Amino acid sequence: MTRYSDPARVRILDESPRDECGVVGITGVERAAEQAFLALYALQHRGQESAGICAIHEGIGRLHKRLGLAAEVFDGNVLKDLVGDTAVGHVRYSTAGGGQLANAQPIMVRYSMGDLAIAHNGNLTNAQDVRSRLVKEGAIFQTDSDSEVIIHLIARSRHETVEGQIDDALTYLEGAFSLILSVGDTLYAVRDPRGFRPLVLGRKGDGFVVASETCALDIIGAEFIRDIEPGEVLKLRRKEITPLRNLLPALRQAPCIFELVYFARPDSKIFGLSVDRARRAFGRQLAREHPVQADAVLAVPDSANSAALGFSEESGAPFELGLLRNHYVGRTFIRPSQEDRDFSARIKYAPVREVLEGRRVVVVDDSLVRGTTSRSLVNIIREAGASEVHLRIASPPVRFPCYYGIDMPTKEELMGHRMSIAEIEKHLGVDSLGYLSLEGMEEAVKEGGPFCNACFSGDYTAPLVDLDKGLIRPEDAKCC
Ligand code: AMP
Repeated sequence: MTRYSDPARVRILDESPRDECGVVGITGVERAAEQAFLALYALQHRGQESAGICAIHEGIGRLHKRLGLAAEVFDGNVLKDLVGDTAVGHVRYSTAGGGQLANAQPIMVRYSMGDLAIAHNGNLTNAQDVRSRLVKEGAIFQTDSDSEVIIHLIARSRHETVEGQIDDALTYLEGAFSLILSVGDTLYAVRDPRGFRPLVLGRKGDGFVVASETCALDIIGAEFIRDIEPGEVLKLRRKEITPLRNLLPALRQAPCIFELVYFARPDSKIFGLSVDRARRAFGRQLAREHPVQADAVLAVPDSANSAALGFSEESGAPFELGLLRNHYVGRTFIRPSQEDRDFSARIKYAPVREVLEGRRVVVVDDSLVRGTTSRSLVNIIREAGASEVHLRIASPPVRFPCYYGIDMPTKEELMGHRMSIAEIEKHLGVDSLGYLSLEGMEEAVKEGGPFCNACFSGDYTAPLVDLDKGLIRPEDAKCC
């Protein structure tokens, strides 16, 4: 099942359309699980399918994970039982492997060195290759998740120390991995050598917090220290922090630019950049590249808000709240029989007639993927009386799937792959369409690059081993 198997349904049923995974690790902080829960709450946009926390007390791990949002999975009683000053947490949305509880994280096992828990964000591009070799050697897998291979690699390593085992395991991995591991009550934070997915380090009191984004630090009052560097492995134990090694630091770094475009929360700082500032810079650059005479600038809320503000700042046209997003469209929304083909978008977005009537509007969206939402939105805006609708996209056309942990449809389903810009303009029924150029986008965030831009350029930095060997189908090559 891919996320986009029924786009209308997907776009509606999810409270937030974002996916991927979010991770957090805490050590040296009293009642670490409660703090991890809050952090997961802040990272909820990165995955809404399952949530889990493993709390560690005197080396013993206790795990609770379920399908659902963090607030549904945890309550006071559950958290009370998750004792300990060390915790590992995870929120997940996944395509490959489906949404079974077995694939929820953290994954916890008992092995020769004690209780081990792992939370992984990113997608390994050689997981099937490694897995099939391990299976041939007798390994038994309990999940479909690519992250489980990491556990096997650690457990089978002949090194005598945990650090040596982790080090050993990491040398087998290809692709994207921001990892938090606990062995006993020691925490390890790892970011792959290209640094695809974000991972930040913070301090709370005498202890430490590692998380996907700084919004998870902010919610628990932890102070941001720095990004975990690409290729870095940190050992964190209560008050102590020990750098272990930098993996293959000579590799070209490739933090995912789509995190800045769409995934991360705008109040976060990742890859050394403020997400809000980056999106505003995209919006300003977009206004320079595709100017248009308009009476109002609208955002497709909420993911395009910052970019639309940037567009408005640069163009001088006022930013207006012309579209409202219904935040209560829950995952269990029941679709009544409805003939209206724009129904899905109508449930989610409502036009503010007073803002739109008789006006020339610029609608800014962060990205166009399949284009289904935009087409309906344009209809809705026209029906509300707008005299002209100009669409501006604060990123280049998405033409290629992502194999490093962002859920994109297959190439054939991507509008930017199937159609030329003129065809898209016609298909969406807009008066004009403008995409941000790749050069313009990279220039806008040049202090943070170089980035992975494979979804726009097809330039895949990490080898796609499983795909190239035919071990997976392209539509299954995505995971969190
Ligand atoms: P559409 O073009 O109808 O497929 O929808 C594109 C919109 O979905 C964009 O405006 C983004 O806000 C959002 N989006 C972008 N990438 C993703 C993704 N990987 N999963 C879910 N939504 C996404």
